Amino acid sequence: MKKDKALKEEKETISLMIGLYCRGKHDHPDRLCAECQELEAYAHRRLENCQFMPQKPVCARCPIYCYKPAARQQMREVMRYAGPRMLIAAPAATVRHLWQSFKPESQRVRQTRARTFKAKTL
Ligand SMILES: [Zn+2]
Repeated sequence: MKKDKALKEEKETISLMIGLYCRGKHDHPDRLCAECQELEAYAHRRLENCQFMPQKPVCARCPIYCYKPAARQQMREVMRYAGPRMLIAAPAATVRHLWQSFKPESQRVRQTRARTFKAKTL
């Protein structure tokens, strides 16, 4: 898959999930609240800088978790809330994400994982 397309899809998925979360949890039906806008912009920036594009692993399984701790915690809550709801809101994106969770990792991801694992155990 081309990098631009992968990036665009990842961004759309993130925006959708933050949208579901904001509507449900922050009662902001029309647009994102300030806090969620900030999280969305941050998540998009992280995706733009993701070194594994276009074959990025799903973030939960990434050997380099690039979020700062506060944003990571926020995103975890967004995922927990929006994850099950995505199946109805965006079945195609959900299927794509599930497929990405199960397909073999790209060589680059495996190498990085092996390297970081070694660094931790030595
Ligand atoms: Zn919000």
